[in-house]
Amino acid sequence: MRSISHLTILGSTGSIGISTLDVVARHPERYRIMALTAQCQDNTLFEQCIRFAPRYAVLLDEGAAMRLAQRIAVAGLDVEVLCGVAALERVASLPEVDTVMAAIVGAAGLRPTLAAARAGKKILLANKEALVMAGRVFMDVVQKHGATLLPIDSEHNAIFQALPHNYSRHRTDSLAASGISKILLTASGGPFLNTTLSALQHVTPEQACAHPNWVMGRKISVDSATMINKGLEVIEAHWLFNAPADAIQVVVHPQSIIHSLVQYVDGSVLAQLGNPDMRTPIAYALAYPERIEAGVEPLDLLRVATLDFVAPDFIRFPGLALAYQALRAGGTAPAVLNAANEVAVAAFLNKQIPFLAIPRLIEDVLTGLPVTTVNTLEDVLSADAAARAVANDLMKSTICLS
Ligand code: NAD
Ligand code: MG
Repeated sequence: MRSISHLTILGSTGSIGISTLDVVARHPERYRIMALTAQCQDNTLFEQCIRFAPRYAVLLDEGAAMRLAQRIAVAGLDVEVLCGVAALERVASLPEVDTVMAAIVGAAGLRPTLAAARAGKKILLANKEALVMAGRVFMDVVQKHGATLLPIDSEHNAIFQALPHNYSRHRTDSLAASGISKILLTASGGPFLNTTLSALQHVTPEQACAHPNWVMGRKISVDSATMINKGLEVIEAHWLFNAPADAIQVVVHPQSIIHSLVQYVDGSVLAQLGNPDMRTPIAYALAYPERIEAGVEPLDLLRVATLDFVAPDFIRFPGLALAYQALRAGGTAPAVLNAANEVAVAAFLNKQIPFLAIPRLIEDVLTGLPVTTVNTLEDVLSADAAARAVANDLMKSTICLS
């Protein structure tokens, strides 16, 4: 008989968290929710507690945690409410939990995801920023503690599926030694695929968050609109698959049906296809190596009819080139890129800076900070803090606002 998998979902109130719970709800005989977490969305977390009866519910925000605890008590639910980063780390590493969905957005996910890695969990990694900023440190912890890393990002999940069996288990494998010539990372091109450079100057947060193919959180929606998301994904692919920057090619594919491809030296190219619905990679990773139903509409190729491919435009989307540069520079550069992007995206969503100032700010921060080597988590965190400080200073001095 199959044993029940016990899950912690970090970021359960977000887009990925909600999709994960949707898949879990389809398979009550397979999964039991042990902990759900959020930043401050106590209403949604309360509804999730009623439905999934976790043992723990964690909110980062103390006030939100107090409100939730009161409602839990009134409802008579047997859920322990905790708050703060230490509690996130605790529920990510509970001995009774085997699988952790890492779906907090941004650098805030790093500590809890690392806690899961240190506890040797099976980690379903959606929180790409953690891997982008901490790269080597993160992968070393995964390896040292025998954690399993399964990519949730649809592109990386597709690559994982198209790689030779067992490739990703042996982190020392190189692409070339496995007969792989290239990873082809597909990109939808986002909502501004055909928007001119001059029109990009005036786009609003609402327009940036209206993605043509995917429904996602606001931060990743803006990242998709700038294509910095694809840049973060290039860095993510580098760490997940031990792939040098030169072996990762971005291909714009507006239909988002092919989620990525692996090209082999014999001329074969293996792809994973499906409707754009994150429940597919989530279900794949939850049940790996088995397959389970995910509630996703079956792909109808005749209805899709056409699959297009174009080269990315590095002029209108300079963030993608900046990510390649940061990956090649190594050391603290990806952490700096990520932190500057997080500051810039928050400012754009608050209507403090225009859309095109996002990559400009990132470039200025990368230029303003020396690249240093990363040996420890502290090196990563201090690069992150320094980049945020420089980005905020630059915004105050209004250099990048126009
Ligand atoms: P979201 O904004 O919808 O949800 C984020 C979740 O993280 C929420 O539950 C929120 O409460 C929690 N959170 C936010 N800040 C926090 C903090 N400081 N501390 C603790 N918790 C915090 O985001 P999303 O779209 O679900 O994306 C989550 C992650 O998955 C991101 O890293 C994103 O890049 C990645 N991802 C998302 C998609 C997608 O389709 N949405 C696809 C691929 C990868
Ligand atoms: Mg993706």
